[in-house]
Amino acid sequence: MKKIAVSALPQLLEAMAAQQALYLPVQQGRSAQFTRYESGMELSEALNTGRSAKDLFFPQVENLVDFKVTGKAIEVIESRDVGEDFILFGVRACDCRSFDILDRVFLGDPKDTYYENRRSHATVITLACGAPEETCFCTVFGIDPADPAGDVTAWKAGQWLCLRANTKKGEKLLASLPMLQNGGEDAVVAAQAAIHAITEKLPLKDLNLTGFDGDHLMEKFNSPQWAQLSESCLGCGSCTFVCPTCQCYDIKDFNTGHEIKRFRCWDSCMYSDFTMMAHGTNRPTQLERFRQRFMHKLVYFPANNEGIYGCVGCGRCLQKCPISMNIVKVIKTLGEGAQ
Ligand code: SF4
Ligand code: SF4
Repeated sequence: MKKIAVSALPQLLEAMAAQQALYLPVQQGRSAQFTRYESGMELSEALNTGRSAKDLFFPQVENLVDFKVTGKAIEVIESRDVGEDFILFGVRACDCRSFDILDRVFLGDPKDTYYENRRSHATVITLACGAPEETCFCTVFGIDPADPAGDVTAWKAGQWLCLRANTKKGEKLLASLPMLQNGGEDAVVAAQAAIHAITEKLPLKDLNLTGFDGDHLMEKFNSPQWAQLSESCLGCGSCTFVCPTCQCYDIKDFNTGHEIKRFRCWDSCMYSDFTMMAHGTNRPTQLERFRQRFMHKLVYFPANNEGIYGCVGCGRCLQKCPISMNIVKVIKTLGEGAQ
């Protein structure tokens, strides 16, 4: 374990940024967002960022390849970003777990080499949650906000910032920062106890996921409750864009007049044209689209991934949905004991 005075955090950030690109939550208006560090920037005190840390591995818009068309000849031009090593500092436990979920999607067979490239360049430093909020329910998914994963785990513990390396990459980074001192174990134990005292009182800590699995797939799919749950959904897609585990995207070509740029951008299963095909769409109403989002996270994903849910309980969709619909309401309505 290493430690440094919290008051020396600016020097620590400078030292890390001198080695590699550094991204951290920085306050931008009313919300914090992961931002590339520039001298003088301060770590936001916000519990979580408006958009999640997945942006660093799966950006909202990304160029894939360019084409030049001359007559009948097509030249393929590799335009991918070769990438650089970077440090992702201040990732919360829920967002860090979302990387495991995204890895299952993008690093499965066949691998998404764009995503893999960014993942391989990153050193992730998580930050334990000092004050989890009432919208947080990560513990329901077995996540401990007092002991997040990552290459390095950090805790703000009284006057100390304590750091523990969890991987070789993390050890190498901490060893390269001479301003760190040894110690901090006792401060971390106290900080973890304080965090657990809060999580034990959170209103959503007992959310019951019983029955959300592949064995109950048709029962959940055919529930009459979807009609009432989806009735007011605007199909705005906000819930999908703030979600750290949502991974739908579209691929499009843009003709610049000189060449074709093929790019991908986030899409949403909440949108009416997401499943549009030559014959039309197979999810013609918002009921089917709404059901898909929650069936995927709560039933299909765990059925195909050893019981791992496609939600990490970050609470962003609880805060952002304009009609106050969210995954918690779905779980409570369709869950054990409900029809
Ligand atoms: S579904 Fe909601 S609570 Fe779950 S990970 Fe996505 S945004 Fe967070
Ligand atoms: S559930 Fe809410 S945030 Fe998601 S698409 Fe519907 S209205 Fe928008």
